[in-house]
Amino acid sequence: MKESIPQKKNLGFLPTPVHRLENLSKYFNGPQIFIKRDDLTGLALGGNKVRKLEFLIGDALFNECNALITGGAAQSNHCRQTAAAASACGLECHLALGGEEPSINEGNLLLDKLFGAVIHWTGEFRKGEKIPEIKEELKRLGKKPYEIPYGGSNPLGALGFVEAVKEIKDQMESMNNNFSHIIFASSSGGTHAGFIVGKDKYNFSVELIGIQIDKGDEEETPFEETLLNLTNYTAEFSGSNKKYKSDDIILMKDYLGEGYGVVNNLDLEAIKITASLEGILLDPVYTGRAMGGLIDLIKKNYFTRDDSVLFWHTGGTPALFSNTEQLNIT
Ligand SMILES: *Cc1c(COP(=O)(O)O)cnc(C)c1O
Repeated sequence: MKESIPQKKNLGFLPTPVHRLENLSKYFNGPQIFIKRDDLTGLALGGNKVRKLEFLIGDALFNECNALITGGAAQSNHCRQTAAAASACGLECHLALGGEEPSINEGNLLLDKLFGAVIHWTGEFRKGEKIPEIKEELKRLGKKPYEIPYGGSNPLGALGFVEAVKEIKDQMESMNNNFSHIIFASSSGGTHAGFIVGKDKYNFSVELIGIQIDKGDEEETPFEETLLNLTNYTAEFSGSNKKYKSDDIILMKDYLGEGYGVVNNLDLEAIKITASLEGILLDPVYTGRAMGGLIDLIKKNYFTRDDSVLFWHTGGTPALFSNTEQLNIT
């Protein structure tokens, strides 16, 4: 790593557990299924953003900033974890959240408010588009703001997942196992980019399968392009001279349904099956969709029975307690 990378700030309880999903493996009679519990990273109901925030907030503290700004959807897990981390580090937190202020505070939004985050409602913009404006405003007020991009997905944040590869490789070796595949939700790209770079850095021969979550808008840069660029920036930032091409990335686009945050039948089946067979909660936006992808791939014989597939649970549980009518649980 470059010397310019600052000390990370410990925020989570790492390593997170990894264990076998015996009932689900039996039920599908396919590959052995394991799960990596980043829903248990520890900070304020957990989630994958903690790994990125350890590096990002380390940098904010190193630069003596006193206010964090980030953005996302109203039910953003990233914003909730950022708000909690800000509280833990004595920093102000500003969140640019898409939509209008709702009449009741549910799920992640309720938690954002408990952590004392200042919320800026940004209407149609749910990907942090207004962060620069808010940053200028905070500077005018004499604050020293630190900008965390949408999803915490820049090369510094992605380092959290470069290092997560070492964590899982060590765990796998001590379990005497050999994962053939890791499958996970891929949305702003930092998790995926970090995994790809970490896989090469730590010589881990595993197939990485990202399930795309958000189809985005027509005017936006296609996600695969954003992801490829972020992967190359992350490689460069972590001192590698490898150049990645689109063929190096597996991104499944078949599970987008009606788009981001709209629960479809496969998402719902995945949430219900994982809850009822394993007692494990998935979320309605990311991990439900990623598990739906895994189930579909098993049914399509993508894996052999000798494969050992790791489902990386990226968190998101608080969103289960919002928009509950979408979940259609009777
Ligand atoms: C943010 C998030 C993801 C996606 O991670 P990216 O690094 O943004 O691709 C997956 N699952 C959950 C629960 C998340 O909050």
